[in-house]
Amino acid sequence: MIPYGSAAEAEAVLGRGMTWAEAAWYQYSAAMPDRWLHCHTTFILFVIYTITPLPLLFLEQFAPAVVLPYKLQPQVLLPPAASLRCYLEAACVFPLAVGIQLVSYPAVAKIMRTRMGLPLPSAKEVVAQLVVYSLVEDYLSYWIHRLLHTRWGYEKIHRIHHEFTAPTGFAMSYSHWAENLALSIPALAGPAIVPCHITTQWLWFSIRLIEGINIHSGYHFPFISPSKLIPFYGGAEYHDYHHYAGGRSQSNFAPLFTYCDYIYRTDKGYRYHKAKQAKLNNLEENNVEKGGSINALLDTGKKN
Ligand SMILES: [Zn+2]
Ligand SMILES: [Zn+2]
Repeated sequence: MIPYGSAAEAEAVLGRGMTWAEAAWYQYSAAMPDRWLHCHTTFILFVIYTITPLPLLFLEQFAPAVVLPYKLQPQVLLPPAASLRCYLEAACVFPLAVGIQLVSYPAVAKIMRTRMGLPLPSAKEVVAQLVVYSLVEDYLSYWIHRLLHTRWGYEKIHRIHHEFTAPTGFAMSYSHWAENLALSIPALAGPAIVPCHITTQWLWFSIRLIEGINIHSGYHFPFISPSKLIPFYGGAEYHDYHHYAGGRSQSNFAPLFTYCDYIYRTDKGYRYHKAKQAKLNNLEENNVEKGGSINALLDTGKKN
């Protein structure tokens, strides 16, 4: 709830006119209790989680020729019923998350020093915060994920997430409740260390969720992959290998970047797999070329 009686009063306190974004934020949130603003996070994430994986799943069913060339494990196609089961089981977590958000307010907002009023942060501030949050989250998630791959962690908790050896977007949140809870800590750690506006939190959690859905999508589209712009970015291909290798996997633990796996030498399996894949591709290309020349010779023979 913004503590000003009118937009003019807010502008007088700011000492300047509101930007269009601030005016929109004032309109939306001025009379809304902070507890409801705090709970928006879960609703936003629920909508994103429900909608984002759908386009690829629809294309896979109704226009496979368009997307299957980019599927990382084309030999495994999940039937729609399996995707629906995955979604329904994972979506059960969201009512629990709403409950936790309601109960945790205002304690969590106070600990994280979340701002909800005016002014809104500048674009520069938001970008800097997102960079810090990404680095903090990646590092902490790496170590939590490694713990989940110990014998106890895997058998008791993480095994559920690895049920999908060729994941789809919905598999992102298909995990034991304890894993969902544990992995929310790295996402919250950044905003707790570097406090931000609640709109930045919504943006950060949304980006993080969309990224999580992307790396579980089972598809790698090289022409739109952020790996071209972001150094050390892992992407779908990177995490898909972690699922492909399954419980035996001691490789590719980091969710966003590749540097943790590189520094702690937990990318050896992936590197070996990539080298093997490249060799096979080369052999295949050579065979196609040879096949092509044999066909050409056969064609010449027929003509003669
Ligand atoms: Zn794992
Ligand atoms: Zn995963």
